[in-house]
Amino acid sequence: MNSLFSPHRSSTAIAQSRTAQTYDLSVVVPIYNEHESIHLLIERIIQVLQTMSCTYELICVDDGSTDGSSDVLKQIAQQQPDIKAVLLRRNYGQTAAMAAGFHQAAGRVVVTLDGDLQNDPADIPRLLDKLSEGYDLVSGWRKDRQDHAVTRLLPSKIANWLIGHVTGVDLHDYGCSLKAYRTEVVRDLNLYGELHRFLPALAFIEGARITEIPVGHHARQFGKSKYGLGRTLRVIMDLLTIYFMKTFLTRPMHVFGVFGLGCIITGTAIGLYLSFEKFILLNTIGDRPLLMLAVVLLISGVQLFSFGLLAELMMRTYHESQQRPIYRIREIVE
Ligand code: UDP
Ligand code: MG
Repeated sequence: MNSLFSPHRSSTAIAQSRTAQTYDLSVVVPIYNEHESIHLLIERIIQVLQTMSCTYELICVDDGSTDGSSDVLKQIAQQQPDIKAVLLRRNYGQTAAMAAGFHQAAGRVVVTLDGDLQNDPADIPRLLDKLSEGYDLVSGWRKDRQDHAVTRLLPSKIANWLIGHVTGVDLHDYGCSLKAYRTEVVRDLNLYGELHRFLPALAFIEGARITEIPVGHHARQFGKSKYGLGRTLRVIMDLLTIYFMKTFLTRPMHVFGVFGLGCIITGTAIGLYLSFEKFILLNTIGDRPLLMLAVVLLISGVQLFSFGLLAELMMRTYHESQQRPIYRIREIVE
């Protein structure tokens, strides 16, 4: 465990991070309408953390709950110094809630888990042991998952297969929230949409070393799941975004520019040939299908080319304007 928490990995990312790293471990839990679970959840997490020989903080992010979860959290955070409650102004979704937690985290390692007691905090030490073997991200794999077979397990199987093939990261279970990260890794990531499940993929694009270990999973005791089948579609859309980012993000001109230029050159060549026919050989060219082809190629070529240029400019803006958080915090209780 020592090597994991010793500050030998002081990369530039650490130097640039917003918060000074004052703990060994930050545990981040997104919470949306889970008031029945909160007390038990915090008790279990703290119990596990106390058995570990490291300094820690527990960050609970209330994602605009309407069932009183935020009041419960606020009260707990005021009483216990190692617990921090981050209360978002409204419901932004799990991804934004996690991002808010990441931004507040002051630990060298960040562990995330769900606020509904489905993940087992007792797995945290094992995740950290694996991380200390030299990985940047250790993901939980709910080998024996306790969810509905048709509405949850089947879509999840398909989604995992798809994500694995598209992103090139080989994990069994992308949906598991129980994960451990080195802080440098999460600091470099920007989360949008439902991208939290693609954290391993995004981290992989950033060059992180990733692995997984089997973890426990319980059926939901209180409240109900915040997601239905509709999530599958949104995941597929996000997957397309990820694929696009992975392939073209840095050099859109290489794709659109090359295609556009190809179209322009072919179109011009055909046009020159047709001009030769008309003005030198004095043939009529008004009824030639080639004429149509030349026109289409030229127009689409110019469009593709300018689209590539615009995309290139937008990519610059995208990269240079990343200071903007995707959430607004109402208050932070410590
Ligand atoms: N969650 C959140 N904001 C949301 C939806 C969910 O913070 O808009 C939290 C929720 O409280 C839970 C975690 O994200 O801690 C996972 O949600 P859920 O258990 O409903 O997902 P499932 O386990 O069914 O995939
Ligand atoms: Mg759950």
